[in-house]
Amino acid sequence: MPMNAIDYRESLRRYKPRVWVDGQSIASVADAPQLAPGINALGVSYDFALRDELAPIMRAVQKSSGKTVNRMLHIDTSSADLLNKLEAVRVLCQETGCAQRYLAHDAFSALAQTTARIDADMGTRYGERFTAYLHDFQDKDLTVGIAMTDAKGDRSKRPHEQANVDSYVHIVEKNGKGIVVLGTKAIVTAAPYVHEFLVMPCRNMSEADADFAVCCAVPCDADGLTIVARPAGRPGEKAALFSNKYGQSTGVVVFDKVFVPWERVFLAGEWQHSSHLTYSYATHHRHTCIAARAGFGDLLIGAGALMCEANGFDPGQETHLREQMVQLISIVEGFYACGVAASVYATEDVPSGVVMPDPVYSNIGKLLLANQIYDMHRIAHYVSGGLIVTLPGPDEDHNPETAANLADVLRANPAVPYDKRIEAARFIEDVTASYQGGWYSVISLHGGGSPAAMKQEIWRNYPVGNKVELVERLLDRGLLSDTTRPITANRQPGRCCDIGCTPPSPTTMVAMPTTEKAKP
Ligand SMILES: Cc1cc2nc3c(=O)[nH]c(=O)nc-3n(C[C@H](O)[C@H](O)[C@H](O)COP(=O)(O)OP(=O)(O)OC[C@H]3O[C@@H](n4cnc5c(N)ncnc54)[C@H](O)[C@@H]3O)c2cc1C
Repeated sequence: MPMNAIDYRESLRRYKPRVWVDGQSIASVADAPQLAPGINALGVSYDFALRDELAPIMRAVQKSSGKTVNRMLHIDTSSADLLNKLEAVRVLCQETGCAQRYLAHDAFSALAQTTARIDADMGTRYGERFTAYLHDFQDKDLTVGIAMTDAKGDRSKRPHEQANVDSYVHIVEKNGKGIVVLGTKAIVTAAPYVHEFLVMPCRNMSEADADFAVCCAVPCDADGLTIVARPAGRPGEKAALFSNKYGQSTGVVVFDKVFVPWERVFLAGEWQHSSHLTYSYATHHRHTCIAARAGFGDLLIGAGALMCEANGFDPGQETHLREQMVQLISIVEGFYACGVAASVYATEDVPSGVVMPDPVYSNIGKLLLANQIYDMHRIAHYVSGGLIVTLPGPDEDHNPETAANLADVLRANPAVPYDKRIEAARFIEDVTASYQGGWYSVISLHGGGSPAAMKQEIWRNYPVGNKVELVERLLDRGLLSDTTRPITANRQPGRCCDIGCTPPSPTTMVAMPTTEKAKP
């Protein structure tokens, strides 16, 4: 049964996770003010899926069950699915800054691919097990935290070489009933207010790391599990006009000999397949991150234009402000276009049938936003002026001694009331210059993997060999088809060549019944 935001909040009461926030034990996650902005943001992914006008993007039919499910829990089987997912995530992140639940989509897609691959290679039955788990999860409309990034210890060493091997989650026991896992996942989005965790490996593993090649589903209140989290957003801060309503908590999740029954285990020592799991997750996730940050970019575009207007300018008339706004629009729509291209040039994974976004465009889009988030913030600051960080606090708004005078002297455009000008200024401070503003920078830079990981994937997947061959042919150098040279080894048919491309159909998105998208 699909839940709404209220059902989701209430459903959290059925679990008793061990959660700490800022040194305080949280007795009831659903009632904790420190976590409310996170629960609100995640709740939007439930409410939007119930809105008929958003159904084409927020709901999808799961091919393996024939049931309609929340897009955030769906596995893509066409380019149209990928495009609709982008739109859904963008709409959710416009509304909330970061909708958090989309990580489930990315992990489920990667697991469908990898379990099918392990079964084909090793004769296991992980695929059946995962499909049963997926359908049950979709039917219950739950939320899962993706516990992938281990604490990792010394970054220059592999998991088994760590002085403290518990800095990576690993298997310490296997028996007839299941496995026991021990270790720490360092960064898990939404950790205090999810129903379950999906433990996944965060890197490729060698044979010596086999115990660290583990993927399994664990309820948030499993014995031995502790969540140590930060507050979500800026709860209770009056000046935080956006992030006291919507925000994201992240948590360190400690697994202290947590038992997992076999029906919830999807990788247990098959180290050769861990790299495919991380690669396919990263590709789906970076594609999704593009839409998430485009939604955030939409907030900056809207707030930047409002701030220009409140200051007395029409950016359409004032050239240097228009130039900044056009740069902001170009950045946001530029990386979003990479997401669209990655959807159109998607390929069908064999044997799972899952459609994967193109890795080059997905990684380029994510790399662009990781670097350009700082330009996005700079532009918001440029068009706004210094007021965004110097304005007296909200308590002054009602001070009988100062409020009237401030309202008079701090007004700019006579057509924009003082309170509307300071609202726009506080909004921009909140999302670009406060703790939360810094948070948006860092999630853009490192969320989904640090930039070095994207550069590696772009180089690994880009058909440089085709381009070298092209030039060699034009130069008549007679060195065609020499695949022994590293520089020509990476050749791919289908992109900008005479074979042409065959994107998985259908490419067209399901049309929205109304052109009007998300209304608050
Ligand atoms: C807000 C936020 C939310 C997140 N949510 C989740 C989540 O829900 N689930 C999840 O699993 N993860 C999550 N992440 C984690 C994210 O995937 C990681 O931050 C990212 O993969 C980088 O890992 P790290 O933070 O450990 O940085 P590090 O790995 O320590 O990287 C720091 C720097 O060192 C470099 N470096 C690291 N190792 C090496 C090496 N071996 N060789 C050369 N250079 C190296 C990196 O390239 C980088 O420049 C989230 C991150 C953020 C910021």
